[in-house]
Amino acid sequence: MSGLDSLPPLARVIAAHGLSARKSLGQNFLLDLNLTSKIARQAGDLSGCDVLEIGPGPGGLTRGLLLEGARRVLAIEKDTRCLPALNEIAEVADGRLEVINGDALDIDPLAHLTPPIRVVANLPYNVGTELLIRWLTPRDWPPFWQSLTLMFQREVAERIVAVPGSKAYGRLALLAGWRATPRIVMHLPPGAFTPPPKVSSAVVHLTALAEPRYPADPKILEQVVARAFNQRRKMLRAALKGAAPDIEDRLLAAGIQPTDRAETVDLERFCALARRMPGGSEA
Ligand code: SAM
Repeated sequence: MSGLDSLPPLARVIAAHGLSARKSLGQNFLLDLNLTSKIARQAGDLSGCDVLEIGPGPGGLTRGLLLEGARRVLAIEKDTRCLPALNEIAEVADGRLEVINGDALDIDPLAHLTPPIRVVANLPYNVGTELLIRWLTPRDWPPFWQSLTLMFQREVAERIVAVPGSKAYGRLALLAGWRATPRIVMHLPPGAFTPPPKVSSAVVHLTALAEPRYPADPKILEQVVARAFNQRRKMLRAALKGAAPDIEDRLLAAGIQPTDRAETVDLERFCALARRMPGGSEA
């Protein structure tokens, strides 16, 4: 039996350390180690990788990542109450687990990690979306990560993988599809968590592409897409009015009808438009 197998069940860990779930920290814990190992396996082969885990909580997914052979896990947790439970895992993990106490939105983990790096997290949804956007929009590409395996509210997961013309299609799908390949790899009912959240969840796996699918400046693309979908029901000539002089000409040059709505325009044409906006390579 490895040291990890000798750890007590998670329900006991939670009781022993008084880890009553806090709503303010989005705490819905996964206590079934078969399930956390299954999620860890969705991240791919971990044996030659460092894994960045955000929000380990009592460590269910952390244990899964270690049991599935991660070379190293760096876990960033905001709630100090979880640290003793995480340290108990570190003690039997043969130096493979490092825990940092802090807010993942403020910490730069790169100094602690060696490529190749995979990111795995079951995070509060608001923090998860903010981090996903940050991870998808660095200035330089390829990014520090090879893949992201993230739990989201099912509705958010569907927005990440949405196709043009669907209700869920928008900024998240465009940013995810531009420089990565996103897939929903698991669905989880509320009952998989303790306490159960109100909605279903899904795990999204994103693999970084070596190059963006189409050339565009990340900042300009982000701005155009944000503006276009801010008023998704409006025709683009109205939604993008004021974004640049002669917006109708720029839309037409990008193959977009000024009367089109954002939700019908695909990634290739949004990138073409970004290149034709002020500061773009074909402006
Ligand atoms: N990964 C654990 C699991 O699957 O059981 C816990 C998941 S729980 C949904 C989210 C975790 O993220 C909690 O432990 C919470 O304290 C932590 N958390 C919330 N906001 C955070 C932040 N900004 N930075 C780091 N951790 C955070």
